Amino acid sequence: MLNNLAGKKVLIRVDFNVPLDKDQNITDDTRIQKALPTIKEVLRQGASVILMSHLGRPLKKLNDDGSINVKKFSLRALVPHLSALLDNKVIFAADTVGQEAFDHAHQLQPGQILLLENTRFEKGEKKGDIELAAKMAKLADVYINDAFGAAHRAHASTATVASQFEPESKSLGFLMETEIANANKLVNSPARPFTAILGGAKVSDKIQLIERLLDVCDYILIGGGMTYTFIKAKFGTTGNSLVEEDYVGLAKDLLAKAEEQNVKILLPEDTIIADSFSNDAAKKTCPSMSIPEGWMGLDIGPEAMDTYKKVILGSKTVLWNGPLGVFEFENFSKGTFGVAQSVADATAKGAFTLIGGGDSVSAINKSGLADQVSFISTGGGAMLEYLEGKKLPGIAAVI
Ligand code: AMP
Repeated sequence: MLNNLAGKKVLIRVDFNVPLDKDQNITDDTRIQKALPTIKEVLRQGASVILMSHLGRPLKKLNDDGSINVKKFSLRALVPHLSALLDNKVIFAADTVGQEAFDHAHQLQPGQILLLENTRFEKGEKKGDIELAAKMAKLADVYINDAFGAAHRAHASTATVASQFEPESKSLGFLMETEIANANKLVNSPARPFTAILGGAKVSDKIQLIERLLDVCDYILIGGGMTYTFIKAKFGTTGNSLVEEDYVGLAKDLLAKAEEQNVKILLPEDTIIADSFSNDAAKKTCPSMSIPEGWMGLDIGPEAMDTYKKVILGSKTVLWNGPLGVFEFENFSKGTFGVAQSVADATAKGAFTLIGGGDSVSAINKSGLADQVSFISTGGGAMLEYLEGKKLPGIAAVI
């Protein structure tokens, strides 16, 4: 973080992409909370703050007449809550780089906070448009990127805008620094054994991650929908389970590579199967390698839970990304919540445990164990890409 900000206007890219209900009430303010330390520090130094963020996908969900659905996607909905959290009136500009934003920014005094309208109302945002970025940059003297959740995007507000500032006038914020420091604990000489627990729907989303993890992990525990592509790769029967036929070959390659590199990829020995994709479906337990016709795997079974628990409790470093089953259905949530408990127990035994964003974050929150793990990332996609070893544009543009 920069430390000579007195009297400056500081443009901070935050990730305020929070979930809202149909009346525009914030249902989870985690992302706002996580941005507060940087905002408060900039104010403490005697600067003024200009905040910008995206919210949802406004250009994908236009009104019937082709106009932007301002009511649904405006950041104005966040003003009361943000003002309360900062104990400071937040000024709102109804555009991102228009006259109103410019006038408010121009008049902004030290200690004041301005929130700009949704960056994705601008067509150039997702294209990383340089002209849009130049207009954003004109509003301020200094740029800070604290939007880890959007750091894997090369957008105008996350990356291009940084090119408009000299190296001494741009930096990462506290949240970015914390996310990177925690991710680095996994990438750079992690304490061993290092176990990655990977679940979620599709193996296709996680191929690169698994390849990268083969270089650093001792164990990879597989769960969720992606299990059955691996089962097929081992010539098991999968019934109606989710299988990505195009990826069976790749799954085979990954299993072979793991063996070569002496990494243990574990598949669940047993599976809870259902006769339909529903919470109320008939269910039973069967070996994961022989799922009968007409049935589908929706959760890991009790034997697998036991095995996974032992591996997790014996680990010194744990990464968890993706639910182990369809945890939204209570009857198929046991595996996911069991793993959440094991990760919390491993943490209590001294392991470093990182929850890598997305659905595993909502699972750990739902389980009430969020304060019993080492670190919960705010960025699903960004965290995975970082762990895959990719350079994130939002970080690379600033440092
Ligand atoms: P992802 O976004 O890839 O992390 O996937 C999360 C989704 O995977 C959740 O909505 C889960 O319900 C779903 N999922 C987990 N296990 C299964 C399964 N066995 N079959 C189908 N979907 C699953």
